[in-house]
This record gives sequence, structure tokens and C-alpha cells, in this order.
Amino acid sequence: MTLLKVDQLDCRYGLLQAVRGVSFEVAQGEIVALIGANGAGKTTLLRAIAGAHRPHAGSVSFDGADVTRLPAHRRVSLGIALVPEGRRLFPSLTVEENLRVAAVGNRRGRWNVQAVLDVFPLLQPRRKMPAANLSGGEQQAVAIGRALMSNPRLLLLDEVSLGLAPVVVDAVYRSLANVISEGATVLLVEQDLTRALRVAGRVICMLEGHVVLEGAAQSLDRDRVVHAYFGLGGHAAGGASA
Ligand code: ATP
Repeated sequence: MTLLKVDQLDCRYGLLQAVRGVSFEVAQGEIVALIGANGAGKTTLLRAIAGAHRPHAGSVSFDGADVTRLPAHRRVSLGIALVPEGRRLFPSLTVEENLRVAAVGNRRGRWNVQAVLDVFPLLQPRRKMPAANLSGGEQQAVAIGRALMSNPRLLLLDEVSLGLAPVVVDAVYRSLANVISEGATVLLVEQDLTRALRVAGRVICMLEGHVVLEGAAQSLDRDRVVHAYFGLGGHAAGGASA
């Protein structure tokens, strides 16, 4: 079943067109990685899906309903949660408070503070600490946990490994594997190609606002992905399926 449908989406910042005619679908239970060089439009696309950026044209449908004009908080109540680039925690609030804030008026489901702490055991001893005192990896875990507190059906993750040591990234992804194994649908931006190809079932590569390559992670040739990523040999227009 299609959970998310993005159709001919255009996003602009003034005259700059950051997302150009992007279309793709994500089925329930899928894990899709969005890859592409800096400035390709990945963050803007995730923000448009979450309702944090108003698109210039095109549409976003969630579970069959057009949500293009819905404000972000209404999308959260439908089950779309964004873990933004840079985490955006409340620095003076404790871990637990940061999690609880996100639960206000939330959807019902399995996620609560204890469930998040079970999935991210590194947060257990930090529960009463202000978020400002946490390491980068711990902050990222809180940011993901905060999104889970809304009991999302679609989790949008923007560069969860940014600025973290590889060993910490491994720990965050291990915990994420638990979340994913419970049937979450995930669209994630990941700069690390190897990791993206390993964790995702499908990969969508963007270049200069366009989708230039799309296909099942297992069937995509790494060289082809690298070429699409850097725009070598021209655009593979139209999202060639692999
Ligand atoms: P990165 O990996 O660097 O985050 P990205 O693929 O997520 O890159 P975006 O952040 O979506 O790409 O940026 C797409 C384009 O839009 C870039 O040219 C960027 O400079 C521009 N852009 C992004 N945010 C803004 C903004 N707030 N105002 C103006 N231009 C912006």
C-alpha cells in the first residue's frame, strides 16, 4: 500500500529552485534512502513533506489524502514525523522533558518515554539531564525519540549521522534497526552511501533538485550511484529504475 506520494513537487527559495518536479512513492513498511550531494534539495524535500516548507507547485499525499496545504502540526497528528537536521532540541529541558513535549496531543501507539529509553539505552542514565549537556550521539537519540513520541507512521530522518563519530553512528543505527523492525516506514537522508545502500530497501538519488536515479538498493550498481550522485555523464533523467 502506498503511504506517501510526492507528485511533481517544486520548492523554491525566491528565485532559487531547490526541488524540481520531484515525484516518487513510498509504500507502507519501506525504508527509502534519499541521497545526493550538498545542495541537491534533500532537506527541502523532507521539510516540504513534513509541512515545514510550502511547495511552489505539485502535491504531497499521505495515506491517500492530499496534505499539501496542511500545516505541520496537522501532519504530525496524521502520523508524519520529521527528525530535522541539527536535532533542534530544547537545550535547557531534560531528556525526559524533551520527549514529553512531543507527546502533547499525540497519536496513540506503542511509543512513550519508557519505550524510547528501551530502544536507546544510552539515554537511560541521562534521563534527568538537560539536553545541552549531552553528547552529539545522545542528542541525536533524543531527537529520534522525540519524533517517535508522536507515534508516527512515517518517520523522516535528516542526516542522523551528521557530525557524529562512526562508532556513535553505528549505535544510533543499531537502535534505529529496532524501530524499523517494528514496521515503521522510513524516508531518510544519508550522506554515507555505503550505509544508505545497506539500511534502505530503495534508494532515490537527487542532483540539483531533480531525481536522477531511483531503484532497489540491492540491484543498484555502486558506480552508477556514484555517477548519479556527482552528476557525472549527464542526468539520468526521469529516475531510471534499476
Ligand atoms: P545539504 O546536504 O547541504 O543539507 P540538501 O541536499 O539537503 O543539502 P537543501 O538544503 O535542500 O539541499 O538545499 C537545496 C538548495 O536550496 C541549495 O542550493 C541551498 O543553498 C538552497 N537553500 C536551502 N535552504 C535555503 C534557505 N533557507 N534560503 C535560501 N536558499 C536555501
